[in-house]
Amino acid sequence: MGALHGGHQQLLRRAAVAEAAGPPAVLLSVFVNPLQFGPGEDFQCYPRDLERDAQLAQQAGAEALFAPSLEEIYPHGEADLTRVQPPPALQARLCGRTRPGHFDGVATVVCRLLGLVRPDRLVMGEKDWQQLVILRRVVADLGWPVLVQGCATVRTEGGLACSSRNRYLSFDQQRQALALPAALAAAAAAHAGGVSEATELLTVAERQLRAAGLRLDYLELVQAHNLQPLSRVAGLALLAAAVHCGPSRLIDHVFLMSRPPIVAIDGPAGAGKSTVTRALARRLGLVYLDTGAMYRALTWWVQQQGVDAGDAAAVAPLLEGLDLRLGSGDDDDPQVTVNGHDVTVAIRSPEVTAQVSLVAAHSCVREALTAQQQAMGRRGGLVAEGRDIGTAVFPEADCKVFLTASVAERARRRAQDLEQRGFPVPALSALEAQIAERDHQDSTREVAPLRQAEDAVELVTDGMTIERVIEALEDLFRQRVPEEAWSVDRG
Ligand code: C5P
Repeated sequence: MGALHGGHQQLLRRAAVAEAAGPPAVLLSVFVNPLQFGPGEDFQCYPRDLERDAQLAQQAGAEALFAPSLEEIYPHGEADLTRVQPPPALQARLCGRTRPGHFDGVATVVCRLLGLVRPDRLVMGEKDWQQLVILRRVVADLGWPVLVQGCATVRTEGGLACSSRNRYLSFDQQRQALALPAALAAAAAAHAGGVSEATELLTVAERQLRAAGLRLDYLELVQAHNLQPLSRVAGLALLAAAVHCGPSRLIDHVFLMSRPPIVAIDGPAGAGKSTVTRALARRLGLVYLDTGAMYRALTWWVQQQGVDAGDAAAVAPLLEGLDLRLGSGDDDDPQVTVNGHDVTVAIRSPEVTAQVSLVAAHSCVREALTAQQQAMGRRGGLVAEGRDIGTAVFPEADCKVFLTASVAERARRRAQDLEQRGFPVPALSALEAQIAERDHQDSTREVAPLRQAEDAVELVTDGMTIERVIEALEDLFRQRVPEEAWSVDRG
């Protein structure tokens, strides 16, 4: 809506970051949208300063400024308008509760702007987290071919979130407004000190806001990705507040997370999970955990010991005292050792591949390896790939993806992989049959079968390049874990 500040400039700089295809063309839209203001709100006096906006936008890397008139955006007027209504569940709390119709107005204008501009990416601030969640949902539900990218909130030196409405504040009010981020920070400190109950956290923040003389509009603890109320912090929580300070209504929030994020990537054999999962982990500064390598290493050991892979009673004793280790590989496969033997290469052989699903189906095997995986992830901070990560190993994962592709596509990828590793490459039809057989074994076994977790997002990768898949995964991660909660630099 214009009246640019450091936060907007940050969005423009982020939008201007060069991609593989070259530097993108960045357009800034400025439109004070009457639809998103309620009666008695500040539509009339909302700051408008297009000339200064143009200067600041150019400095930050914008190539074009689009400042349409009311008639251009709503040619039939407000009364005779196609409106977009985001799901009520996402509007029931926070700003949606005290500003009825606000998000309908936002969604309507953003869809209109997307239609006029047709951007590849829409860059928005995480400061308006509810708006970001709602617009991501609108874009997904309406099938707009645009990637919605969020950017961490930019703050003044004192910690106040940048906002055009800060302009309404007198010097004294600006100082008073600092109590808003301070109160949220106090609640975050209490959470870091072990407090998880919503009532206690809300009390900490509310006491400080009242002491500073700020009038509360709302103060709520909700789940970050779906904005549903929480009685205690679980997973990633959003503590958000709106207050009245002098003539301004200010909003701010803090994310509360009980541990670094866990990403679960499940899917059938040969979907190309390893390559993209490893790259994603590196990008996000998270540890990469290849659980398939663990089942493969055990299978190698079972074969070395001359044990029948299908005989659970014979396999079980091998689990006692099993010393299975995963190194942190960089570009290549991570080092895998079993009982002191380096099996990094051997576990990719066709012999191991042929029997791994048999070994992985035994409940004693699943119990032992799941326990080891859970111990590795106890403190969070990892991207784990496998078959049952989101369902059995880390059901509380912050982001769950079911990565798949058609059998034909997976057979093609498997052939390439075998060739690169120097193994003989069977005919594609034989590979397709093997893959279909492993799918069947993995998804029909009794314990922790391969299936998509209810809260996982399916990503079908036929026809996608590796880079596109990694981008899509990163986008799915960011839909769940904002930059403010996990920034890449932290890794
Ligand atoms: O992913 P990869 O092909 O290396 O996995 C090998 C096998 O290990 C799978 O086909 C499956 O039988 C088993 N597995 C599993 N649960 C996991 C990971 C792998 O059962 N979490």
